[in-house]
Amino acid sequence: MLFTDVIRKKRDGGALSPEEIAFFVAGLADGSIPPEQVSSLAMAIFLNSMSPTEAGALTMAMARSGTVLDWSNENLNGPIVDKHSTGGVGDKVSIMLAPIAAACGCFVPMISGRGLGHTGGTTDKVESIPGYTSMPDFDRFRQVVKSVGCAIIGQTADLAPADRRFYAIRDVTGTVESIPLITSSILAKKIAAGLDGLVMDVKVGSGSFMPSLEKSQELAQSIIATASKAGLKTHALLTDMNEVLGRTAGNALEIAESVDYLTNTNRESRLDEVVRALCAEMLVLTGVESEPAAAIDKVEQAIVSGRAAEVFGRMVSALGGPADFVARCQKYLPAAQVQMPVTPERDGYLTGVNAFAVGNAIIELGGGRRALGEKLDLSVGYSEVVPIGTFVGRNVPLATVHAASTARAEQGAALLRRACTIADAKPQARRIVYGRITADL
Ligand code: URA
Repeated sequence: MLFTDVIRKKRDGGALSPEEIAFFVAGLADGSIPPEQVSSLAMAIFLNSMSPTEAGALTMAMARSGTVLDWSNENLNGPIVDKHSTGGVGDKVSIMLAPIAAACGCFVPMISGRGLGHTGGTTDKVESIPGYTSMPDFDRFRQVVKSVGCAIIGQTADLAPADRRFYAIRDVTGTVESIPLITSSILAKKIAAGLDGLVMDVKVGSGSFMPSLEKSQELAQSIIATASKAGLKTHALLTDMNEVLGRTAGNALEIAESVDYLTNTNRESRLDEVVRALCAEMLVLTGVESEPAAAIDKVEQAIVSGRAAEVFGRMVSALGGPADFVARCQKYLPAAQVQMPVTPERDGYLTGVNAFAVGNAIIELGGGRRALGEKLDLSVGYSEVVPIGTFVGRNVPLATVHAASTARAEQGAALLRRACTIADAKPQARRIVYGRITADL
């Protein structure tokens, strides 16, 4: 088979056969299809989309392109469940959710992604913890999940390697925002992880990959339907991504905020609502709790009792990070040379944020990739980000920018100012969870 014929077929709006998809995925995994041809097909799929049948075939082929984990011999006394986000800015939910769910009796083998397009990635974030092995071998991964209850790792060379390569190429070729590509990318990793259940956080708004609530709903339906065909029980929550989630955006900064959250020191209200809702959904999906209210209570107890923070600390240490990371994370995390408040151009209420532009500003600061394999500056980004509805001015900045130099901090400040809308009238409060979609609907 000639790969150029496959590209031409999709370019002209045709449907790829299972054999053509299998050929593509094999070439992705073994590197025999070069990046220019991969990105050309990605753009053709982006422009002409795929049918559910094609997306299902792509999902299964990518899931089986490496090892598919099987937990049945491990005698785990709880469900194997995970959550995945469709991607956002300041979306650090996974870092808190995995240890909370583990503290509630679940086992969470979390295979996360790197930054993608304008969004940050959990794998990059955990790599800001010195010594943390984000690519352990399977035995270690298995051992940590078994003994601690959760392990957040990146995609190792063996786990859905076809998606790993495709993801990295999509990241830098403007081909992320496609329902079949997002569906297959997420589910390939999750099917390879051998889960009993999955909860999806499907983002809605300016910092998400979908332009409207309807498109986000369509993405959620696509993921649930494809997962269900593969035998993976999946529920989805649609959550707001019209501004930075929480107070920080940037790799190490988000780890510090996650530690504050887990130690119950500072839980930003919108972030808190998303974390608790997704954790509770995991408990209900897997039958750990039958009622949502009881599930929320259990999640709250796991946080306030300190058990979730303890699980997080044990996970970090089991994966090679410092044993006292939770107690002294600021000592270990990389800090940027320059930290500067970003004052707004005028006084008034912050009424809107272009979260996509904020994500791109972090890339400009060096916290995300512009080219394949680029090394990141994990220390940069924004902290003390104020939520929409705040009255900002000379004494209440929009955020603090963290950058490698004064010039870059000024550029980061200007980009953030440009992404923010300020007006005289206070905006109406927005919901954070827009809806819930289950396979049963
Ligand atoms: N997360 C993924 O793992 N893949 C995507 O394509 C988007 C979000």
